[in-house]
Amino acid sequence: MAGAIQEVSLATQKCDERFATGEFFDDDFVFGAETSTDEFICWSVRRFRGWRTVLTTSFGMEGCALIDMYASRQRTMQISYLDTGFFFKETYALIERMKERYPHLEFVNRGTTLTPEEQASTYGAELWKTNPDLCCRLRKVDPLARVLASADIWVSSIRRTQSPSRADTRMVEWDPRFEVLKLSPLAYWERDEVWQYVQDHDVPYNELHEKGYPSIGCTHCTVAVEGSTPSEYTRLGRWSGIEKTECGLHLIQSGSG
Ligand code: SF4
Repeated sequence: MAGAIQEVSLATQKCDERFATGEFFDDDFVFGAETSTDEFICWSVRRFRGWRTVLTTSFGMEGCALIDMYASRQRTMQISYLDTGFFFKETYALIERMKERYPHLEFVNRGTTLTPEEQASTYGAELWKTNPDLCCRLRKVDPLARVLASADIWVSSIRRTQSPSRADTRMVEWDPRFEVLKLSPLAYWERDEVWQYVQDHDVPYNELHEKGYPSIGCTHCTVAVEGSTPSEYTRLGRWSGIEKTECGLHLIQSGSG
């Protein structure tokens, strides 16, 4: 254990040196599966103090766990979320529980101001069926771009094993699309570890996870997955019946929905 901590300390030292020279881990990275998430978060809080940092969440189980990790290390922090207007009532209830649990954090809705009615009138009824990529762009990607336009650091809770498109996620990487340094402290976590964490630390989570919803988005595009349990993750319940698997927030390479 002492050896592992020393190794991570050397890694953080190396990171500090590389940041001092302006390198942003485009070619390789020094944090990996063996990195202590605890130390990584402590390092990032120290290293990026004074940088404009945004933690975004959609209040999935991973996001709630990550908020808890930062909450114990930050006296104040702004948590941004993008209310699409199509959240489940259970998600709105969870947001209120998170606010009560972490009163020193500021939860800010940075979602679209385009109402569902305006969207229907401009782009047609049920856009999530006729053009889900456009719907996601209007209600998720464009609002996120506005949030990140004034940020230096974007903290995200995505994990490598959530989907093939997230398999190469690094704990520190440059996001050329939004032009921010992206931190993903949970990149190497597995879902059962996240589930264990929220139980051990009494972290609020969406009760839909216990009703067969491993991944939770908008009501129009999320269904339960038969046999699913909170400790298992799949995106099968998202955009069921069409090829779409991502809303477009975390596609570093393609830049499309
Ligand atoms: S998940 Fe569905 S309803 Fe939500 S923004 Fe994307 S297409 Fe629209």
